[in-house]
Amino acid sequence: MAPELPPGWSPAHSSALYGIDAWGAPYYSVNGNGEVQALVEQGDDTVAVSILDIVEGMRARHLDMPAVLRIRNVLDHRIAVLNESFGRAIAEGGYNNVYRGVFPIKVNQQCHVIEEIADYGRRYHHGFEAGSKAELIIALSQLRDTESLVVCNGYKDAEFIDLGLYARRMGYPVFFVLESLHELRVIIERSRHLGIEPLIGVRMRSATKVDGHWSQDSGDRSIFGLSTTALLQVAAELREAGMLHCLQMLHCHLGSQVPNIRNVRSGVLEACQFYAGLVAEGAPMGYLDLGGGLAVDYEGASANSTHSMNYQLDEYCVNIVETVRETLDPLEIAHPVLVSESGRATVAYSSMLLFNVLDVRDTRPGNIPAQAPEESSEFIAHLLDVLARVDIDSYQECYNDAIFYRDETRELFHRGQASLRDRALAEDICLAVMQAINALLPQLERVPADLESLPEQLSDIYYGNFSLFQSLPDIWAIEQVFPIMPIHRLDEEPRREAILADLTCDCDGRIDQFTLPGGLRNTLPLHALREGEDYYLGVFLVGAYQETLGDLHNLFGDTNVVSVSINPDGSFDFVREFHGDSIADVLSYVEYEPKHMQEQFRKVAEDAVRSGRISVAERQRILQAFRESLQGYTYFEHHS
Ligand SMILES: *Cc1c(COP(=O)(O)O)cnc(C)c1O
Repeated sequence: MAPELPPGWSPAHSSALYGIDAWGAPYYSVNGNGEVQALVEQGDDTVAVSILDIVEGMRARHLDMPAVLRIRNVLDHRIAVLNESFGRAIAEGGYNNVYRGVFPIKVNQQCHVIEEIADYGRRYHHGFEAGSKAELIIALSQLRDTESLVVCNGYKDAEFIDLGLYARRMGYPVFFVLESLHELRVIIERSRHLGIEPLIGVRMRSATKVDGHWSQDSGDRSIFGLSTTALLQVAAELREAGMLHCLQMLHCHLGSQVPNIRNVRSGVLEACQFYAGLVAEGAPMGYLDLGGGLAVDYEGASANSTHSMNYQLDEYCVNIVETVRETLDPLEIAHPVLVSESGRATVAYSSMLLFNVLDVRDTRPGNIPAQAPEESSEFIAHLLDVLARVDIDSYQECYNDAIFYRDETRELFHRGQASLRDRALAEDICLAVMQAINALLPQLERVPADLESLPEQLSDIYYGNFSLFQSLPDIWAIEQVFPIMPIHRLDEEPRREAILADLTCDCDGRIDQFTLPGGLRNTLPLHALREGEDYYLGVFLVGAYQETLGDLHNLFGDTNVVSVSINPDGSFDFVREFHGDSIADVLSYVEYEPKHMQEQFRKVAEDAVRSGRISVAERQRILQAFRESLQGYTYFEHHS
């Protein structure tokens, strides 16, 4: 911990412990009251709002936990910095063209996110990237500005192509990026049929290897993009059709979350060579789309590792601008419009998942008697001896003995020779031994391999009111890490070590990897719960990819969502609020008919009345409870 911290525990200690300034700046920090605050620029000022205040506003509006909180100002700021960083790099790097960002809709399709990007992004001519017909329809519904690009990736059928061509006719720069030669033939055919000329791009297959999780998006075996031969064939077929002038964009996507700036540089260099090659083939070109990949530093480590990045946004932009200029200038090729499709880096920061903790299973043993109770097995007495013996010289032996006697007791129990009480006591004493050893670990120079997992084994389990599968699917699917911390009580030292479990009864519904300064840890420091008081945790930087990849495991549905806009005076408005799925909603997703279910249940109740098991008044109450449950939230609800 940083040496300049004051004695005792202060909010500054919590900032250092959870590393919030490393992963959260400039948007999140800890305030003097020990609460996480959101920080937004308002003119020359920075305005701060405590997340806990927003949570209280949500409760007053019956928006229960769990909930996704979006901060609109943060999203706006991300769009602004992306465009302005490119703008600066272009101005300072002597680059003779402009930057046009497009937001890849797949990264967050939620209506008000898209509307905000369209609205705020308009000042920068920020457009959209669509990977399917549904996404194209979203993009077309947002068209307002004939300088914002719409880039269409993915496989396109005639219907998709017709829609894009109509938008083209209306004056919007809609590009079809080719995924296959077959698609090219459909585009040529539809374009002739409708008499509308397309704008065409080609997606190259990069041989540049990238670090991180998405390394397979590039390279020879990438499932995306045209082979070099196919690119030449595209040019030949367009030339033959008299449409080579429509080929204006080269598209290159190295993969998402590229942690290493050197990969970016070599990928761009390779793309420029392809670009030059297509110019040499006689295509006019004019647009170079470098795809996504701009990373988010989830760990706050500023490192070349999967969940981090070894560069800053400005450096990313300068690298791209410089590489393109330096590669194309000697070839006397005009600088293209630079396009990028940053998704993650645009939306990750603006959303957080908030939930309360429902319960804690702490691993502290029950009361341990000083002496073995009469008639208990001899192993209990042995275990008590071991417990009394634990110290820095004998911990390893004590560990082995405790496990041995505990397992022997279990064996006796198995054969009916030890009681349930014996077994409970043996397990508790063994646990006490492990805790005593665990307390010694910090004094050891090297922790033996079989004791390394002791802190995790002894950690508490905090049961959170959320579903990992619905709200944080990447934790489960690709071992993504997100920063997680309490949003309040940060002026108190967190004295428990915990893993998190969600509401699904699935052993995968747990979080046991946490990014803390110094690296990944298997437990998270948390505060003991206080009777009658809610304890709230926030999972940060979750705006990208999580919301629509989520599924209905155990039929936990969409969470409540609120979008907040922070005002210059530090107040905030709830600009949007959405109530999450009701139980009836999720049941209908899996093809039940709530009306019919109610009717069936009514019959059961009616039978019970007829046979005298319940009264008519009880029947009313029971049916009422059934109806209300159907309308209720799928998560744990507070009833006050
Ligand atoms: C997923 C994807 C993106 C977005 O990537 P990020 O790393 O989130 O910026 C951009 N372009 C294409 C073609 C994609 O498939």
